[in-house]
Amino acid sequence: MAEAFTARGLSVTLVEQAPAVMPTVDLELGRLLGEELRRYGVQVVNDVTVKAIHHDAGGLTVAGEPDFAATAELVLVVVGVRPDTQLAVAAGVQTGVRGALRVDRRMRTNLPDVLAAGDCVETYHRLLDRPTYLPLGTTAHKQGRVAGETAVGGDREFAGSLGTQVVKVFELAVARTGLRDPDASEAGFGPLTVGSVQFDHKAYYPGAHQLQLRLTGDRASGRLLGAQLVGDHRAEVAKRIDIPAGALFHGMTVDGLSDLDLSYTPPFGSPWDAIQLAAHAWTHQAGRPQSAGA
Ligand SMILES: Cc1cc2nc3c(=O)[nH]c(=O)nc-3n(C[C@H](O)[C@H](O)[C@H](O)COP(=O)(O)OP(=O)(O)OC[C@H]3O[C@@H](n4cnc5c(N)ncnc54)[C@H](O)[C@@H]3O)c2cc1C
Repeated sequence: MAEAFTARGLSVTLVEQAPAVMPTVDLELGRLLGEELRRYGVQVVNDVTVKAIHHDAGGLTVAGEPDFAATAELVLVVVGVRPDTQLAVAAGVQTGVRGALRVDRRMRTNLPDVLAAGDCVETYHRLLDRPTYLPLGTTAHKQGRVAGETAVGGDREFAGSLGTQVVKVFELAVARTGLRDPDASEAGFGPLTVGSVQFDHKAYYPGAHQLQLRLTGDRASGRLLGAQLVGDHRAEVAKRIDIPAGALFHGMTVDGLSDLDLSYTPPFGSPWDAIQLAAHAWTHQAGRPQSAGA
């Protein structure tokens, strides 16, 4: 929205209580996004919690702590997503994580013949093997399909989400899949996260961009747990995150990424794709390459 408002000629201030924008990625990557926003004239204010918005003759005044005040013609409040469940709850549907409707993997609620899918339901997480709340369009489509199959007597199950997502911020794209270090620790893994910088394609070929990658894997088993990626939006960031997303889906190790037969030609990649080079950096730091595969 900061990008959209800027494109419409508005002067934008983004206030965020966390130390960097987009707390869904690691601080190092969030800071890069903050720099990108500033590069396009957005005033980025971190470490400030908005406490009040007043409306008076002079317009809107936003007050925050510590020590923040600004006036504005328009305030957009973007503080997360909540499931809209009133109708179903009134009908007797049970809720679970973050008040989302409780469903099984065939999208059945506790009420007979009442199926639910999308932003209003809990989402089974494939890596954590438990319900989470991950409202995404990709997930909603798959869950809707499973609910449809259940409705007509099929037995397909929702295979689970990994929270794979991508967003564009001016010239950058930021993407992630799976768990980050703190999520992985909380889930009982012994994670190691290794950051690296790789070119999206052969540097001698014009138009190469640097990608910032962060891979998270389990130290003991070498299992891949998550990936984060920031780079120029023309550098195949979205499709590149889908490589670890596919690997995570199939329970591969970080080292196993090395063995994937990925495409290459100099304008688009390298014989070792950026993701594979990031995997090499991880296995090098972990100190012991693991065998490939699940
Ligand atoms: C600005 C924005 C950008 C997004 N970008 C992405 C993205 O890039 N990638 C991604 O994966 N996800 C994205 N999402 C999330 C994605 O849009 C949602 O996860 C997805 O649309 C959820 O699908 P759904 O069917 O559960 O709900 P919705 O798409 O919200 O559909 C629910 C529908 O039900 C209707 N409805 C509600 N109550 C009633 C009622 N009582 N009676 C009749 N109809 C009713 C609503 O009007 C609505 O049309 C984005 C969301 C937003 C808001």
